[in-house]
Amino acid sequence: MAATAAALPFRKLCTDCGVSRTDDPKRCGRACQFIAPDYPHLETTVHGRARDPGSAAGGDPARADEAFFGPYQAMYRATLRQPREGAQWTGITTRLAERLLEEGLVSAVLCMTADPDDRWRPQPVLVTRPEDMAACRGMRMGYAPLLQLLEPAIAAGHNRIAVVGIPCQVYALRALQAEWGLEQLYVIGTPCSDNTPTENFHEFLALIDPAPETITYLEFRADYHVELRYTDGRVRTIPFLQLPLSQLRPDFFPLTCRTCVDYTNVLADITVGYMGGEGRQWLIVRNERGRQMLDLLGEEIELEAPGDAGKRSTAVKGFIGNVERAAGGLPLRRMPNWLRPIMGWLMPRVGPRGLEFARTRVEMKAAETVIHLRREAPERIKHMVPAHVWRLVGPYGLKPQPDEVRDG
Ligand SMILES: Cc1cc2nc3c(=O)[nH]c(=O)nc-3n(C[C@H](O)[C@H](O)[C@H](O)COP(=O)(O)OP(=O)(O)OC[C@H]3O[C@@H](n4cnc5c(N)ncnc54)[C@H](O)[C@@H]3O)c2cc1C
Ligand code: SF4
Ligand code: SF4
Repeated sequence: MAATAAALPFRKLCTDCGVSRTDDPKRCGRACQFIAPDYPHLETTVHGRARDPGSAAGGDPARADEAFFGPYQAMYRATLRQPREGAQWTGITTRLAERLLEEGLVSAVLCMTADPDDRWRPQPVLVTRPEDMAACRGMRMGYAPLLQLLEPAIAAGHNRIAVVGIPCQVYALRALQAEWGLEQLYVIGTPCSDNTPTENFHEFLALIDPAPETITYLEFRADYHVELRYTDGRVRTIPFLQLPLSQLRPDFFPLTCRTCVDYTNVLADITVGYMGGEGRQWLIVRNERGRQMLDLLGEEIELEAPGDAGKRSTAVKGFIGNVERAAGGLPLRRMPNWLRPIMGWLMPRVGPRGLEFARTRVEMKAAETVIHLRREAPERIKHMVPAHVWRLVGPYGLKPQPDEVRDG
């Protein structure tokens, strides 16, 4: 069962999560991450408490990382002992959903598979048999209306459902969860950043390889390299600094994905990413339901404490300077070509690693949100930028103006 993605989203800031395609599109007003999100309220509803504000704001030092990653019980560096074929990393995400189906805890999983005509294009799917989860492994670039399939699923009698989603989809799901009246809802989230419509992504592939149609896998790794895999089994890595980013047109990344405010999927029960994993996966168990799902993997999964090394502030400051120059239409300060391979070698060794790498990326994304909204949609800042984003960027001199914060 798949959604037709015929009509285009109708708002300026919209990633077509599916809500506007349901019977009551007006619900976007209370469900959308890009309109007036209320993270403290939804964090409290989902996890029983809002995130700790961080030690600088008088929070509990033992929970200082919640200021970056949202509420959680535990974080791990993790790997499936048997990595799954076709998975983006080792396949923890789809294995969790598979286990829920195997145990009968849910009767259906709502997630993304690949469009049959384009391996990079996401297509929403409702999976009811554990053996069909394998086809959903891997990352696609782009958006597709995941939540459009929820009401038909409920109408078909599925009252115990798992959803695998990216943060903008999970925000809308949580905002409307009570209206859907599900008996059980398990939410497995992945972090997300720098997404772009699938058409744009094909342009990027064409810039990095003369035979882009032979690329089957791409990932931005925590060691500052992009990994590519090909139809003939070849693997190629490119240091971030050698990517042809300056050749992309300015609107390559849509405003939504330059300004969304939840990198780590804080409303999922469990987040499965890689940023804090130093080459392995990174798990954020956020509540009891997330713990219950992780326990279903038993000995299949290897868990260890995440590493934490290096200092992020210079990298974040440099990034902010570049974003400000680029957003202001000024040329990016380009690194000479001869220096790029050296920096590409050096950064994984001396740059922030483990949790510090994850904090670096979260702060960078928060800064991008403020800078791009100020330039392209300043009227949205007041309602769209939550207090936690201002707390992250404050130390870098990005402070809210009086008309940029909500009253009270
Ligand atoms: C656009 C995008 C950007 C990402 N950026 C980051 C990042 O910056 N940092 C980070 O730590 N992690 C990021 N992730 C998550 C990461 O790529 C892995 O998906 C995650 O670590 C899970 O790996 P896995 O092997 O467990 O997943 P798998 O078992 O291979 O399962 C992947 C799951 O992702 C879902 N999925 C794939 N493509 C999409 C899509 N376009 N929209 C919605 N759902 C999709 C599918 O439903 C599938 O179940 C991103 C994911 C996406 C889709
Ligand atoms: S709720 Fe979803 S469909 Fe509606 S405007 Fe937001 S992203 Fe688009
Ligand atoms: S980057 Fe943000 S807005 Fe864009 S698809 Fe990912 S979660 Fe949604």
